[in-house]
Amino acid sequence: MRTQGERIKKLRKSKGVTQRELAERLGISEQAISKWEKNLSNPSTKNLLQIAKIFGVSITYFYQSEESQSKKIVRGSGMASLRELYKIGRGPSSSHTIGPERACLRFKAEHPAESYRAVLYGSLSKTGKGHGTDYVIKETFLPQICEVEFDFDTECTVHPNTMDLIAISGGREIAKQRFYSVGGGSIVAEGETLAQSEMIYPLDTFKDIADYCRARGIRIWEYAFEIEGEGFYAHMESIWKAMRESMSAGIEDEGILPGGLGVHKKAKQLYNSYKEGENRETREDRLVCALAFAVGEQNAAGQRIVTAPTCGAAGVLPAVMLYHKHKRQATDDDIIKALTTAGVIGNLIKHNASISGAECGCQAEVGSACSMAAAALAELYGMDIDKIEYAAEIALEHHLGLTCDPICGLVQIPCIERNAVAAMRAINAANLADLLFDTRKISFDKVVIAMKETGDDMSPAYKETSEAGLAKIAVK
Ligand code: SF4
Repeated sequence: MRTQGERIKKLRKSKGVTQRELAERLGISEQAISKWEKNLSNPSTKNLLQIAKIFGVSITYFYQSEESQSKKIVRGSGMASLRELYKIGRGPSSSHTIGPERACLRFKAEHPAESYRAVLYGSLSKTGKGHGTDYVIKETFLPQICEVEFDFDTECTVHPNTMDLIAISGGREIAKQRFYSVGGGSIVAEGETLAQSEMIYPLDTFKDIADYCRARGIRIWEYAFEIEGEGFYAHMESIWKAMRESMSAGIEDEGILPGGLGVHKKAKQLYNSYKEGENRETREDRLVCALAFAVGEQNAAGQRIVTAPTCGAAGVLPAVMLYHKHKRQATDDDIIKALTTAGVIGNLIKHNASISGAECGCQAEVGSACSMAAAALAELYGMDIDKIEYAAEIALEHHLGLTCDPICGLVQIPCIERNAVAAMRAINAANLADLLFDTRKISFDKVVIAMKETGDDMSPAYKETSEAGLAKIAVK
């Protein structure tokens, strides 16, 4: 297999570019290029990204074997920043509240008008009321008035979370834009593709990332730090801080959640219900679940949480991390690194499958969160890349087929309890991976593909429309 230096040389020569010309364009010395080409040193990821741009090739050209390059069907190479995955925002749904809020902010800034109209389609219309989508849209357009219309009939052909925003001035439409809320609070405007946003990660499969890390003797979080660059550590500190704050607030909170289901907040009760003679396992279950409930309840109450990777699944990862921080006396720095590894896992699922309940069911939300938490725990335990992969794979595999059927469209039943169960499952997956990793048969990348195919085959009634399953039975 050719080295990166040899590939640069081949590309450079095929385009008739000298070492000096390339060095000038990169703003580095000619000797540096010469050293790469002689395999005396390796180019940084930043330089590789620039070289790929200069020669008009995909960054994957430098990482994948020639064999895999010829076989692979390239689907928009690279992944977006983890800043796009971990977002701080108000619940209860990343697709239904954070995404639409971002779309409205963008549309309002681009099209100032006297008033606005929003039309919601697909899952945004069917469960928009329960998720408070209309409330968020109206709030975001203030002080201008925005009318919100729910269109239950028009079929969504591009994405189940579709919305039109219309700007009105002088009694007529002056601008109209369609947006898709594609999961985890991310939005894409019609005519744009996800690939157009900053795809800073050159590699988009676990295998390629693992090969890269092994070749360089680095851990997954180090790879992410290399790519994300300056300011990323501070960003992750703020993410961890917001996660802790949502757990603290949830543990103190009491009362009934909004929406009319009469669901009692239970985190505080769970957290404090120590019983004489409680064994270690029961204590662990109780505390981890209480922390997951705390975030789930804050989310359902429309409070600030971190998408991990979505609002509905926001409780799994922080609960596992905080409990094990205390159990292992881990530092905040250890947790930030573990969260970063988890972020790479979430990003891979988002890029190669989906983290949207409306697109692939709850396997994409809570399943992804469980996979991220298992990988984070494996990172915290200092497990190697194989074990981290196995932990993430087990966790996702055992959520395959999980449907999204929130009662009355509220992110309460089954969502909150489901976060707690998934947190326990993540701990289980990491422990199993540590013991059984050399027996595994299925890669993480394959399970991600299986999840996407399962999601594609799932009836729309089970994808955040509240038309089937628990949602249907409960309202009978
Ligand atoms: S069932 Fe799962 S995917 Fe659906 S709203 Fe609840 S947490 Fe999200």
